[in-house]
Amino acid sequence: MDNRYDVIIIGTGAGGGTLAYHLAPSGKRIMLLERGGYLPREKDNWESRAVFVESKYRAKETWYDKDGKPFSPGIQYYVGGNTKVYGAALLRFREQDFGEVRHHGGISPAWPLSYHDFEPYYTKAEHLYHVHGQHGVDPTEGPASGPYLYPPVSHEPRIQELFDDFRRLGHHPFPLPLGILLDEAEGKALHSSACVRCAAFDGFPCLVNGKADAQVICVDPALEHTNVELLTGACVERLETDASGRVVTKVVVTRKGSVEEYSADIVVVACGAVNSAALLLRSANEKHPAGLANSSDVVGRHYMRHNCSAFMAISKDPNPTVFQKTLGLNDFYFRSDDWEYPLGEIQMLGKTDGEMLKGEAPGWAVWKPEFALDFMAEHSIDFWLQSEDLPDPNNRVTINPDGKIVLNIQETNLEGHKRLAAKLKAMLTEIGCHDQLMSRSLYLGKSIPIAGTAHQAGTVRFGRDPKTSVLDLNCKAHDLDNLYVVDASFFVSIAAVNPSLTIMANALRVGDHLLERLGSA
Ligand SMILES: Cc1cc2nc3c(=O)[nH]c(=O)nc-3n(C[C@H](O)[C@H](O)[C@H](O)COP(=O)(O)OP(=O)(O)OC[C@H]3O[C@@H](n4cnc5c(N)ncnc54)[C@H](O)[C@@H]3O)c2cc1C
Ligand code: SF4
Repeated sequence: MDNRYDVIIIGTGAGGGTLAYHLAPSGKRIMLLERGGYLPREKDNWESRAVFVESKYRAKETWYDKDGKPFSPGIQYYVGGNTKVYGAALLRFREQDFGEVRHHGGISPAWPLSYHDFEPYYTKAEHLYHVHGQHGVDPTEGPASGPYLYPPVSHEPRIQELFDDFRRLGHHPFPLPLGILLDEAEGKALHSSACVRCAAFDGFPCLVNGKADAQVICVDPALEHTNVELLTGACVERLETDASGRVVTKVVVTRKGSVEEYSADIVVVACGAVNSAALLLRSANEKHPAGLANSSDVVGRHYMRHNCSAFMAISKDPNPTVFQKTLGLNDFYFRSDDWEYPLGEIQMLGKTDGEMLKGEAPGWAVWKPEFALDFMAEHSIDFWLQSEDLPDPNNRVTINPDGKIVLNIQETNLEGHKRLAAKLKAMLTEIGCHDQLMSRSLYLGKSIPIAGTAHQAGTVRFGRDPKTSVLDLNCKAHDLDNLYVVDASFFVSIAAVNPSLTIMANALRVGDHLLERLGSA
């Protein structure tokens, strides 16, 4: 077998999958190495018990906290990566997020590139991932060079009522931009639509491939090109370099119990922020004693994952909404009327059902009999609150002597998040929507906070200075000539919007650079 390629991409999620799609038409020989397989298509894809309670699709893996305590991370290993289960809320960073932002808990640092450098790629990524939305409604949004190709997903009556109520209070709710293969009329999916507008949108895999995930949108179409290959069940253990330490010469893989080696002119790591850092650290050698590409000692540091919470408001009236995740609100993104610092973003969540609540058995459920949990789920309106956490060099990924992943986290910048929850509560009270706001913990693997790894980012940051960053502006390692990292690792800060659109846009941006380097631009 000829194991030499022009490009090897390790990982097929938002970063790796999107890059593969962009490079595929070049005709270059491209190999995708993915540790997972295809996510099985089965009825359990849409069963809350299987997905949320039994965590059927979560990786069976143990990571450790700084004290050596084991935990099960909220992470999935499949073709398409974590986008197989994501909520597909695909938002741009705000223009200001690329500059320095002063938070109550400290400074969110400036990126080395601006919103305008990313803008054309945001538009391309929105088009590629079938984002349904409407620019110009959310006042915090930056300029867009082109409209979304698809109209916003329509609100069901209860969410439209909420939208109207928020407007009445003087707020600016907006249709949440969603990556979804939905064609609808009068709130119903058309017969030609892949998505059937069911209740299983957020955190579930899609049984009918109606979600715009990296497998459906990018990896499968890339594989239609005969120059692109995919190897599943291929876990990359380490990267080896030549004697100079400047060139990755071997990608060492375990597959079906044996070790295989691959090589390429260009090697792209896209394993997700935690695993990409872990792979570089595991690949330490004589020329790179602190880990590959780690002369700065920055690899693994500045781990971020958002400060987030899920809440359910128990409304007096039942909430029969099926597809609930259609509304967002950024009015407290930068400040509030009574505070000068950023609070964060409010979004709807997928609809809670009784199974989720029973499985979650949250602290407050001990005094609720089961039928009450069903009743509560029927009356709930569910929200996702997301605020910026700050890049702290001590929040980091390391490897223990057994080669296992260790995460060290100290929560940062929590005050804004608490205030965001208080704002939501006040708004809901004002519109008479609830008498109780209860916190949810199961979504995104947050049953213990450290396991909430869904929005992991920042561990292999990019920048101009090789002393303070691992990657240059093209996401090539400063220390090597042919190593790139193209996933959430490159983030300098995480803003308060969901990360995937920025990961996808960046993959397209780096893809343009790689096409030029390969002589295929
Ligand atoms: C429940 C849930 C809901 C979410 N909702 C949203 C949302 O609404 N909007 C949003 O923007 N984001 C959302 N996210 C986050 C989003 O899924 C991630 O930000 C995104 O997938 C990260 O992209 P990535 O390329 O960095 O990594 P991933 O998508 O995780 O891809 C990494 C890939 O690398 C593979 N891999 C890892 N290690 C190795 C190795 N050693 N060898 C070979 N392959 C390897 C993995 O199997 C995986 O396929 C959600 C995540 C979860 C879990
Ligand atoms: S809402 Fe659409 S995309 Fe989501 S799981 Fe149902 S059919 Fe799939």
